[in-house]
Amino acid sequence: MSDCLFCKIRDGLIPAKVVYKDDVCLAFKDINPQAPTHVLFIPHKHIPTVNDIAAEDEATVGHLFTAAAKLVKELGHDANGYRVVMNTNGDAGQTVFHIHLHLLAGRSLTWPPG
Ligand code: C5P
Repeated sequence: MSDCLFCKIRDGLIPAKVVYKDDVCLAFKDINPQAPTHVLFIPHKHIPTVNDIAAEDEATVGHLFTAAAKLVKELGHDANGYRVVMNTNGDAGQTVFHIHLHLLAGRSLTWPPG
């Protein structure tokens, strides 16, 4: 069995507040939200980091963005603005090695991030 936390969430072995699901991806509320809306979009396929995205994964990864944009619109954050980001490896603070697109919205977000 996979030791990956997000594979376990995908398989329903660990609970999560799921807000969106389709054939390619799953989205759930971050357990430690950094904004009023903080949702993680993960592909069903286990891809550890952005470095591991293969040419055959391009549609899958692109789908994470279109799914996030769809939810943003439904939640009414599209006009005010929001951030989507993938942390990669140590310097970026990646802690779960199954790619996930953070969607942050609902407050003014500073730049550059820490
Ligand atoms: O980009 P990074 O790997 O640091 O993000 C992992 C995210 O997964 C964190 O924001 C953390 O709060 C979240 N998380 C979660 N549910 C868990 C474990 C971690 O939402 N059970």
